[in-house]
Amino acid sequence: MANEKKFVKAITSRDENFAQWYTDVVREARLCEYSSVKGCLIYLPNGYAIWENIQADLDKRFKDTGVENVYLPMLIPESLLEKEGDHVEGFAPEVAWVTHGGMERLQERFCIRPTSETLFCDYWSKSIQSYRDLPKVWNQWNSVLRWEKTTRPFLRSREFLWQEGHTIHATYEEAEERTLLMWKVYRDFISESLAIPYVAGRKSESEKFAGAQDTYTVEALMHDGKALQSATSHFFGNAFPDAFDIKYVDKNNEYQSVYETSWGLSTRIIGAIIMVHGDDSGLVLPPRIAPKQIRVIPVAQHKEGVLEKANELVDTLKAAGYRVDIDDTEKTPGWKFSEQEMQGIPLRIEIGPKDIEKNQVVVVRRDTREKMVFSIDEVADKLFDVLETIQKDMYDRAKAFLDKHIDEAVTMDEMVEKFKENRGFIKAMWCGEEECEGEIKYATGGASTRCLIEDEEPISDKCIFCGKPAKFKAYFGKSY
Ligand SMILES: [Zn+2]
Repeated sequence: MANEKKFVKAITSRDENFAQWYTDVVREARLCEYSSVKGCLIYLPNGYAIWENIQADLDKRFKDTGVENVYLPMLIPESLLEKEGDHVEGFAPEVAWVTHGGMERLQERFCIRPTSETLFCDYWSKSIQSYRDLPKVWNQWNSVLRWEKTTRPFLRSREFLWQEGHTIHATYEEAEERTLLMWKVYRDFISESLAIPYVAGRKSESEKFAGAQDTYTVEALMHDGKALQSATSHFFGNAFPDAFDIKYVDKNNEYQSVYETSWGLSTRIIGAIIMVHGDDSGLVLPPRIAPKQIRVIPVAQHKEGVLEKANELVDTLKAAGYRVDIDDTEKTPGWKFSEQEMQGIPLRIEIGPKDIEKNQVVVVRRDTREKMVFSIDEVADKLFDVLETIQKDMYDRAKAFLDKHIDEAVTMDEMVEKFKENRGFIKAMWCGEEECEGEIKYATGGASTRCLIEDEEPISDKCIFCGKPAKFKAYFGKSY
């Protein structure tokens, strides 16, 4: 029993110290660890399996809209990165360079991709000729490198995994439509598969992607009241592709510009899953992306027939299509329960001699700890509904939390006060000037515009900071 206590004690309470709780969960659920390469992670099996399920789900959603996957090199020649001014300026401070090949100093150095717009555009400038070559709707699953100074597991690391979609189109409208479509794909994925509610909108000038005309974001609210930018979709217009001289010949034999988009979601989203759903016992995974949905835990497994019956049940559940495993190690049941809870496995099935006698099992929900009893003959049929209920309840709970943490303010005093009391998003009017955005950030101890709100009535006609006419209503929030 002493050991069991130690296992549960290993994580800090979420409300006591959120940052420490997060670090503890990542470690104890064995999701990832720091490597000897400073700022870079090792994704352990439990963590990488979540990413694989995210990939599979999202990749299907992409392909349903006509996306094709490709793979481009990880090195980018310096001359290419420099072609678009805003873009290079945005990324230069965090780029890592390759200067040598073997023993020789290179004529031109290469950067390790921080993102691949430049390589895609360079390739298209050589390969696109006619309107018949358009559109190109491509995506790659890869890793990128950004030389971050401070790092945190999943939230900020130097090398991280993601997907980057890049598309070019014959018309402005078609590219804009694609930008908005991918933004919707992300919103649907995040709410339906990850059970994470969000606020979403266009980014302000200072917060948008380097080189983009417009950036659309999905912002989720973590349990500590901070926002996490969870996915973005960028519309480049034709400025970026023009910098690379991508032109096509239209039906009238005239040269035309192309219009570009890019969009991405990274392993940061695993941080969001942890911080939206986790509790003091560890991770809580939404059933749709949980690597294991069910763990069978035999009780008094040394008694005759228990292990056989438990393994039989695992086979039945696997055959029915569940992702299921069994913990038949020598550990005590209490220890096994703690581990299953720490790893966030949505359901556990307890099966012991008394259950077998009654031809039943005890099923326990990870999210609410609710216990249910099912007959062994029926359990495989019943658990689909239980998992779907968990998925829905997890979303509803997170949505209630989000709604409770959205407020509005008309004066700075009110905003500062509300940020102190009520963690979360605050809606306010803003003149659109970067200077005011900076002042608001300073006054509130770090709240920036998370996104603009374009479908609601204004709260007032004045900027909350300077009092000049307001151009935008925006969500302000502190963020990761
Ligand atoms: Zn202002």
